[in-house]
Amino acid sequence: MNAAVLTIGDELLQGFTVDTNSSWLGTILLPYNIRITKKITVGDKLNDIISETQNILDDKYDFLFVTGGLGPTHDDITKEAFRQLLDDEIIFDENYYLQLKQHFEKRSIKMPESNRSQAMLLKTADVIPNDNGTALGMHLLIKGTHTFIMPGVPGEMRSMVNKYIIPNYIKKTPVENFITIKTAGIMESHLAEKVNGLMEKYSHSFRFAFLPHYSGVSFRINKLDENENLLNVKDEFFKAMLPYAYGINDNTLEEILGLKLIEYKFTIATAESCTGGLIGKRLTDSAGSSEYFLGSVTAYSNQLKTSLLNVPNDIIQKFGAVSEEVALEMAKGVRAKTGADIGISTTGISGPSGGTKTKPVGLVYIGVVTPEKSMVKKYNFNYGRNIHREMTTTAALNITRLAIEQG
Ligand code: ATP
Repeated sequence: MNAAVLTIGDELLQGFTVDTNSSWLGTILLPYNIRITKKITVGDKLNDIISETQNILDDKYDFLFVTGGLGPTHDDITKEAFRQLLDDEIIFDENYYLQLKQHFEKRSIKMPESNRSQAMLLKTADVIPNDNGTALGMHLLIKGTHTFIMPGVPGEMRSMVNKYIIPNYIKKTPVENFITIKTAGIMESHLAEKVNGLMEKYSHSFRFAFLPHYSGVSFRINKLDENENLLNVKDEFFKAMLPYAYGINDNTLEEILGLKLIEYKFTIATAESCTGGLIGKRLTDSAGSSEYFLGSVTAYSNQLKTSLLNVPNDIIQKFGAVSEEVALEMAKGVRAKTGADIGISTTGISGPSGGTKTKPVGLVYIGVVTPEKSMVKKYNFNYGRNIHREMTTTAALNITRLAIEQG
């Protein structure tokens, strides 16, 4: 089944608001075998809303999801557009108006008169309740197209879809046709070399996509044939992508590393220079991280590297703060200072200034010291300051994961 999405609002066209409604709808509907094949954004202009809706209806989609323009302000004209398009009537829902009034009274606020418009509904529509706001949604079956008109506020729209639209109008059990394998520490082209044979083998009933990000490459598998087993195929690809594959779908590297630390009963601490605490931030993004994360020393200056991490001053003088030797001493130092089983360190040049001929912008050393081994890896991530820090953080988490797994 196919669907179209029409998002309404000048702010979406001008870029002040990013249209997350249509991307959310795209992913939430796929397991119900509903594919969004058209997505249109229009401004707050009555005639544009009417003509774009008409075009979509002419194309005979199974579903049309409309978001935005249902509020009480002057630019909220979606209902009027549908009234004109369908030659419908707008009726006043006295009961809902009283409910709205009570809603405001409960919060000791006088209801603005403009909210009256939210009790105005299209006569031929079924009402979709709004558990998170005041603008009701509407359902209309227009020449075979199930049309849902919803508020633009993402939280309101999402709860309408989850609580009312899927159970009442879609009524199917979701089937997972997609799965994403997450990898880190390998380039897209090298990853492709590892799985070219498997892609060939399964090309008749699966579709594949490589999705590279600065923090790793995701590999998406899309099952096209109902009779195939998505999980078995995923397992085959995952195996072929080891040791770079670390998780699936929403798994994060920090979450997977956290699980490894729990499994091996290891604690961890970080000594961060160029990453400024980002590794600690990402480790603490996972609930339950207090079980393994002891803390982080952000030692940006040479002085703090010495006073807080016991990095010998002569080593800094001899090799420079951005060096393999200092990275190793920082990781050892934080481990000794905190009593953690594993110490991670970063020292590098994020840029844009500070580089030299021998130590260019982008250079970074990452140290990892575990009960079994000590190592320092050298990278050059010269893609700007923020990306440098993101890539360094990801590499640090990933090499720590590998160091634990590989013993
Ligand atoms: P309400 O009745 O609550 O005002 P509405 O239907 O009138 O809702 P809009 O006024 O168009 O919706 O937008 C309300 C808020 O939702 C705004 O902050 C807007 O930027 C945001 N919003 C609207 N459309 C989208 C969208 N497609 N993606 C993400 N945010 C959106």
